[in-house]
Amino acid sequence: MITSAPLVAVLTGAGISTDSGIPDYRGPHGVWREDPDAEKLVTYEYYMNDPEIRRRAWQVRRRGGLLGAEPNGAHRAIADLSRSGVPVRVLTQNVDGLHQRAGLPARKVLELHGSALETVCTGCGDRGPMDAALARVEAGEADPRCLPCGGVLKPATVMFGQHLDPVVLADAVAVTKACQVFFAVGSTLQVHPAAGLAGLAAGAGARLVVVNAEPTPYDDVADEVVREPIGTALPRLLSQVREAAEG
Ligand code: ZN
Repeated sequence: MITSAPLVAVLTGAGISTDSGIPDYRGPHGVWREDPDAEKLVTYEYYMNDPEIRRRAWQVRRRGGLLGAEPNGAHRAIADLSRSGVPVRVLTQNVDGLHQRAGLPARKVLELHGSALETVCTGCGDRGPMDAALARVEAGEADPRCLPCGGVLKPATVMFGQHLDPVVLADAVAVTKACQVFFAVGSTLQVHPAAGLAGLAAGAGARLVVVNAEPTPYDDVADEVVREPIGTALPRLLSQVREAAEG
């Protein structure tokens, strides 16, 4: 039995999902930097006001293959740590649902930027599965509307120009202040709120471990900086946490 396991927070960014074939949109070579026009597809104002942007966005989602992506070893290592009895919370910038797919209970995952696996109606707030909306696109609807109210449908993600969910953000801050170990994995730690959370963790006395291919602004205050690939680094680091907890 684990009696005195620390609370482990794991902040994850795009880098943890690239091994699952999901491109990094915001990174230095991200899709949005190399094609500024693509950024309009995920900018709330353009999306709401331009039906052509919505038609293009639905086609990108249809071809994107996000729903077919599989979790990788790093996602599974976090789920395994949780199953071993160590209290774990994931704070993720990703919208791909791969932590839950790897077996981590949904209540242990805070999706800071929402989820691309669901749609939300901008009129009435109705939610539904993304695959049902994509099936309608496949069947010929260029811009599927909310069935109950006819409003514009969008993914349940936080687009540029939208605020983060204040409840999710407050929960993330509470976890960050309470944890004893804070891993920042595959995130450049340059975008709000990820950057603020890493700083808050370090300031609150948690052990901060940065696992990222590129330098981050928090490397100097981190207790440990790991540059090796996430797919090998994270399983090793989390098994050390588990052994220490079981010690
Ligand atoms: Zn509606």
